[in-house]
Amino acid sequence: MVEGGSRSILVAGGGFSGLAVIAELVRQAESGDISIAWLDERGHFGKGVAYGQDDPHYLLNVRADRMGLFAEEPQGFYTWLQEGESLVAADAYVSRALYGKYLVALREKILTDAKEKGISVVMEQARITGASPDSQGLLLTTDRGAYGGGLLVLATGNGDAKCFPWVRPETKTYLPSLWDKGSWDKLSSMAVSHPERPVFLLGSGLTMVDATVRLARELPHIRVLALSRHGLLPCAHSEETSAKQTGWRKPDIALSASALMCFLREEAAQAQALGVPWQHVMDAMRPDTPALWRGLGSDGQRRALRHAISWWNVHRHRIPAPALRLLEQRRANGFLEIVAGRILDVADTADGLEVMVEERSIRRRVAASVMLNCTGPQLDIRRSANPLIMDLYKQGALQPSANGLGVAVTEQGAAKGSWKNLVYPIGPLLAGEDLETTAVPEIRRHAALLARRLLERR
Ligand SMILES: Cc1cc2nc3c(=O)[nH]c(=O)nc-3n(C[C@H](O)[C@H](O)[C@H](O)COP(=O)(O)OP(=O)(O)OC[C@H]3O[C@@H](n4cnc5c(N)ncnc54)[C@H](O)[C@@H]3O)c2cc1C
Repeated sequence: MVEGGSRSILVAGGGFSGLAVIAELVRQAESGDISIAWLDERGHFGKGVAYGQDDPHYLLNVRADRMGLFAEEPQGFYTWLQEGESLVAADAYVSRALYGKYLVALREKILTDAKEKGISVVMEQARITGASPDSQGLLLTTDRGAYGGGLLVLATGNGDAKCFPWVRPETKTYLPSLWDKGSWDKLSSMAVSHPERPVFLLGSGLTMVDATVRLARELPHIRVLALSRHGLLPCAHSEETSAKQTGWRKPDIALSASALMCFLREEAAQAQALGVPWQHVMDAMRPDTPALWRGLGSDGQRRALRHAISWWNVHRHRIPAPALRLLEQRRANGFLEIVAGRILDVADTADGLEVMVEERSIRRRVAASVMLNCTGPQLDIRRSANPLIMDLYKQGALQPSANGLGVAVTEQGAAKGSWKNLVYPIGPLLAGEDLETTAVPEIRRHAALLARRLLERR
């Protein structure tokens, strides 16, 4: 057992969020009176799920000069690329594998800096199964023993995949996530076993784009059917790099979700009339998004999640333009079909699976070789399959946010619940509170603020 204490910080999760908090703690701490225990079940410390993939063809969806680890130095990744003689343009979308290397290089530097400051950082590959409060703070139970600390940074990330009632445990042709170990190999081997059938992708967002682009490259003869509620594809980033930037006029009163959407459309139209791509307006709005989101109140947020989130997602979470061109080409050539609808049932067959789809009130049976869930993470903690999250929730140490996404936090960033100021969530778990919490620019800003708050605690 590792002992706790008021200056010892437990960090659960070895992805970008965990790394960003530790990097800021080490950078901001003046002396070595803190110690950090960093725990992750995968052991990909720094890379996490998003940047732990080896395939060099999965690309970042944020340009290189905006992906630095530190909020104070957004160009850090681009500088690192140049120092390593990877001469790409500042606005290039490079591979996530390369970004993972950058994070590991920085992790090593941070560990060295910590040592020089006398800060102990222990990394342990362990699955955390639960937590309990104790006299020193709290105690984590893991498959490798117990870890005590004064407080817990909860950086457990994107969470597990959403579950569906029609997925039966015995279904072998259903893959819950592209990011699980071995998932791509299973997908491709089932696809080539029945090349006459399409691969069924559930969802039409960023993961669907990753899977379709990779299938087009590695198995170009395989067809893809992608289904989502509205059948919308992500929009592309603007390629007009020389276009002038624009600000945006933040509305000075709280607007409803629909009024906000109208406002945003008008801003985008005005920008376009001046020759500025609408994408720049979405980017300029980003720092204000959490405040605007909070201004909607929980009822407004729920309405927005029901009626506007798909539209928002495709405009906000964009892809490089060449990726969209490839999808359009595949679509035109009959290799990609995008369907707006929902699944009614799925049955296993000897050759794969049969999916009953409802498309604008019309039912259709689709025979597919394999189905991949591309719908994104389960952010409702009441349904979490993560034992730590469920344990904290059951003990009242975590509460769902008012709109049901992620967890509720206090103004100081601590989880609302029965344990006062012991648990500090970061990353996707804050989606309900701030909406913009999953990408690097937002996480690194939050990490800097959180580290300051934790270091100020006595
Ligand atoms: C495929 C993909 C591509 C992305 N691309 C971009 C991009 O290009 N640009 C951008 O800005 N953002 C991108 N993002 C957003 C991304 O979510 C964030 O950038 C960031 O990686 C999230 O990091 P995290 O540490 O919060 O979560 P994760 O990377 O999910 O890390 C959490 C870690 O905690 C571990 N963990 C969870 N529970 C436990 C437990 N009980 N015990 C032990 N360990 C546990 C998990 O196994 C995991 O290793 C992408 C996300 C994904 C999924």
